[in-house]
Amino acid sequence: MSSFLESIRGMKFFDMHVHMISRTTDDYQAMADAGIVAVLEPAFWLGQPRTGVDSFRDYYASLVGWERFRASQFGIRHYCTMGLNSKEANQEALAEQVMEILPLFIYKEGVVGIGEIGFDDQTPAEEKYYRAQLELAKEANLPVQVHTPHRDKKRGTTRSMDIAIEHGIDPGMVIIDHNNEETVREVLDRGFWAGFTIYPFTKMGNERMVEVVRQYGPDRIMINSAADWGISDPLAVPKTAALMKQNGISDEAIRLVTLENAVTAFAPSGQISLSDFDQPLTIDQSQRFNGSSVLRGGQAPRIDKDSTIIK
Ligand SMILES: [Zn+2]
Repeated sequence: MSSFLESIRGMKFFDMHVHMISRTTDDYQAMADAGIVAVLEPAFWLGQPRTGVDSFRDYYASLVGWERFRASQFGIRHYCTMGLNSKEANQEALAEQVMEILPLFIYKEGVVGIGEIGFDDQTPAEEKYYRAQLELAKEANLPVQVHTPHRDKKRGTTRSMDIAIEHGIDPGMVIIDHNNEETVREVLDRGFWAGFTIYPFTKMGNERMVEVVRQYGPDRIMINSAADWGISDPLAVPKTAALMKQNGISDEAIRLVTLENAVTAFAPSGQISLSDFDQPLTIDQSQRFNGSSVLRGGQAPRIDKDSTIIK
């Protein structure tokens, strides 16, 4: 067992932004072993553009169906946010069709908000569908998970908040994600929730994250891995918790930024609450979802990962 796990044994974590559809069962197992009890999977793009609305339909169905089931087979509760991502908002003809089907998915069990939506290149089409989805969120009384752009982040973040306010949305219903040292103060000052993504090379490293929590305290801050099909780390949340502990951040502050704040932020959906985590999920890997299980051809449920022998 790696040493970082020792220091956080018994703690529970909620990775509030992770794309499990592109991760393996080994990742699920490692996440469960590290104390992750829940994940939130925002609807996103797939690394390449979809060519038809049925691809969106199947993807959304998998977020509330198979992927949710798959997580449960490792004792992990799976929630999601539904939305049209900013990159694909730029294919307007298709985006129109996606807006038509979104209302069919946002009221499903486990859907805790509209997301991840917002800006990528900050184009007019992105703005149009960001606004349309804010209206959808308002109508459904759901929280909003906002993806902020990598390029020109400061301006994109400010603009995302301005537009949400323009639509009459309470900042307390909006989670601004992928913050950094440049954006956090404004996000907190304006009353929004601030998500931070610990992602190698492109976003935040976790040493920087420790400093942010030291400087701003734990209120309304939450961290995630945003692990996806790129080089990323599905253990980013427990690793950062361990690093915070090593650096003298209190257990209570760690609990807020790695579990409780995110639950509170998405609770207005009525689909998530802290009491969800009182009891562990019981795991039975022989369970089936529409006739399929995570086991293949007579496999026995899994067992000892550290064994060299694969049976
Ligand atoms: Zn994402």
